[in-house]
Amino acid sequence: MGRGGFFERYLRVDLGRRTAEHVPLDEATRRAVVGGVGLGALLLTRETKPRFDPLGPEAALVLAFGPLVGTPLTTSAKLAFVAKSPLTGRISDGLSSSSFAIAGKRAGVDAIVIVGEAAEPSIVLIDEEGAEVVPCPDLWGRDFQISEASERLGKEYPEHRFAVIGVAGERLVRYAGIANEGRHAGRGGLGAVLGAKRVKAIGVRGSRAVPLADAEATLRIAKDLARRSLGPATEKYRSLGTVANLSTFNRLAALPTRNFQASTFEEARRIEGEVLHETRERGRGSCKNCTIGCEHFYEVRPGQRPVKMEYENLFALGPLCGIGDPEVVLRASSACDELGIDTISSGGTIAFAMECAERGLFPAGPLAEEARDLRFGACERMLALLGDIARRRTALGDLLAEGSRRAAEMLGGDAPSFAPHVKGMEIPGYEPRALQTMALGFAVGTRGADHNRSGAYEADFSGKVNRFEASEESAAHAVAAEDRAAVMDALILCKFLRRAMENFFGEAAEMLRAVTGLPFEAEELERAGGRITLVRRLFNEREGWTPAEDTLPARFFEEKLPGGAAKGAGIDREGFARSIKAYHARRGLDEQGYVPADIAQEMASLLGGRKR
Ligand code: SF4
Repeated sequence: MGRGGFFERYLRVDLGRRTAEHVPLDEATRRAVVGGVGLGALLLTRETKPRFDPLGPEAALVLAFGPLVGTPLTTSAKLAFVAKSPLTGRISDGLSSSSFAIAGKRAGVDAIVIVGEAAEPSIVLIDEEGAEVVPCPDLWGRDFQISEASERLGKEYPEHRFAVIGVAGERLVRYAGIANEGRHAGRGGLGAVLGAKRVKAIGVRGSRAVPLADAEATLRIAKDLARRSLGPATEKYRSLGTVANLSTFNRLAALPTRNFQASTFEEARRIEGEVLHETRERGRGSCKNCTIGCEHFYEVRPGQRPVKMEYENLFALGPLCGIGDPEVVLRASSACDELGIDTISSGGTIAFAMECAERGLFPAGPLAEEARDLRFGACERMLALLGDIARRRTALGDLLAEGSRRAAEMLGGDAPSFAPHVKGMEIPGYEPRALQTMALGFAVGTRGADHNRSGAYEADFSGKVNRFEASEESAAHAVAAEDRAAVMDALILCKFLRRAMENFFGEAAEMLRAVTGLPFEAEELERAGGRITLVRRLFNEREGWTPAEDTLPARFFEEKLPGGAAKGAGIDREGFARSIKAYHARRGLDEQGYVPADIAQEMASLLGGRKR
């Protein structure tokens, strides 16, 4: 029996029935998947029937906390939103940091599962007693910016912390996100899952202290980790933030440009992190309970509120769309945050549309008319399109609200071969041909193209592998990176801490022992990382995954990179297929990539008696 870190139950809210019940979570479950993304994936599987509609009442949205949330450990104020993605039809999760996570855990639960559909637009208020569904006609359909909706809720319910969707979530944009206190669970369209349930916001409050099995040891570890979090391993995040990547990636010819037609951008200098820092930086910030503080805010125009910027926003709304104007990129990033759409999928889908427009692929009629002035580098057009997408306000906006995969299928012809996605998820800011271990990580990712659940790029950047070739060695790095990320996201700690930890699984086990009192060991946690990936794969299999999905768009096999340090690089189809097979073998999957029947059987009791 554990003595800390967990409340050993989750809250199940049924919106249609207007009921809420606490459901016990046993020790075997907690040890098997730890918390965060692991617990979220497990509960999502248990709480749904095969092949459900992610936007239907039978869909579940899981908010999962980790055992470390609410403890003094740095960067631990996080939660995972987990659901079946309306963009990919596969599992998706989004991590977010804020006092929402702490308040939710202090309601005395390890997770919250929301099912059903509210009879009218509502908010859900959760506390230690349970949940209440409250109609919110004044907040729905009003085209509020997310900051305005959050402010109104904060004034009306000052004791609650809120996670909110924007207009895009209400309109079921397939890459709508969920925001809380300026942080976003962006990827995979989980905001649309909430919107389909007619829920504008989830409010949480609680006063239960998170129990610590060994408070003294927890404090000692927390102090040591906080000290190391201020060392050289995190210096880059403090001094420039993730925007520092732009100039490095441009130099390595790994910076996706003009919908992946190139990997260097001639205007990169105008928007690189160093220049933004010198000319526009106006403040720093951090998530709740974080000692690193990687957030950097930049001036858009004098007198206007500065805007937070990350590398992924910068690349997707900048070079990927051929845009090098810093003011435009900052305005676009802020617009995505206020409308509630994912920046990577927004940039990826618009860049795809720009290429379609330049190639004349829009059919004659309203679409072609609207796309007439859509070109790479068309700044004002891109800004206007973001609003049209979030509101599904024009034929083109409505089409692009479906994401690049669906839009490409509707356009037909050559379009699908250069729509920038894996499993429907738009590709983040790592050029696959220049970083081929990362390319493998993208292809096999359960969430689709995913830099947060893989991290295989570290091998490419470390020089441990030839970054222009996916190999068996790449497969070993891809598996190890996935396992580490899965445990980090189950705990849940910020990934920017990882380099400050020398022996990740050992240190993670020590933290868990101190907080929970359970005898976690390093090897057990390493196995948990693999198990969490298998839970996700089993969920995807149940929802119709086929081996053909573990691939990349044809462009990456058929077109070579045109310039820079990666000039001439392309991905060899046969070599890539071999590296995928090597990944399957190392992950313990069968030849085609399915979870073998004996392993699935072993996991059936964990997954609620699921049958294959
Ligand atoms: S390092 Fe950055 S992203 Fe991570 S918890 Fe701190 S502020 Fe948040």
